[in-house]
Amino acid sequence: MSNKTLAIIKPDAVGNGFTGKIMDRIIEAGFKLQAAQLMQLSREKAEGFYAVHKERPFYNDLVDFMTSGPCMPMALEKDDAVNTFRSLIGATNPEEAADGTIRKDFAESIQNNAVHGSDSNENAQKEIAYFFTSNEILDY
Ligand code: ATP
Ligand code: MG
Repeated sequence: MSNKTLAIIKPDAVGNGFTGKIMDRIIEAGFKLQAAQLMQLSREKAEGFYAVHKERPFYNDLVDFMTSGPCMPMALEKDDAVNTFRSLIGATNPEEAADGTIRKDFAESIQNNAVHGSDSNENAQKEIAYFFTSNEILDY
């Protein structure tokens, strides 16, 4: 079973000064940080990342948002990382996110929802490789 997931602290949360608070929640929850880099996504990079949503009405606004400022992709390791991380962040819409979840506490809206988490082991592998080379993933 894969034990990795790709997280992104999104531009709203970085801009609002929540990067450290969100990383602390993640590490306190038992995830091991294996890679992290603050970066400004190009339009092409953001479009590629969200290509699965290309036909959705919110796609262009989502790409605008994801390129609006720096974000921080991270490779995380934990047993059952994908599911455990999605529980930690809560529902896509922060109004529906459970108390104590990262989105409940730090997200602004259904679009500006503070964090991304991979939705399957297969996508976690692909998404980690989309942002990091194997040399940049530190196993320790
Ligand atoms: P993520 O993939 O970022 O972890 P998710 O899996 O909870 O979030 P998806 O359905 O994959 O949600 O949507 C990807 C992203 O698109 C959401 O995180 C959010 O930023 C944006 N989004 C999703 N639905 C809407 C919507 N109805 N209106 C505006 N933005 C949306
Ligand atoms: Mg998703």
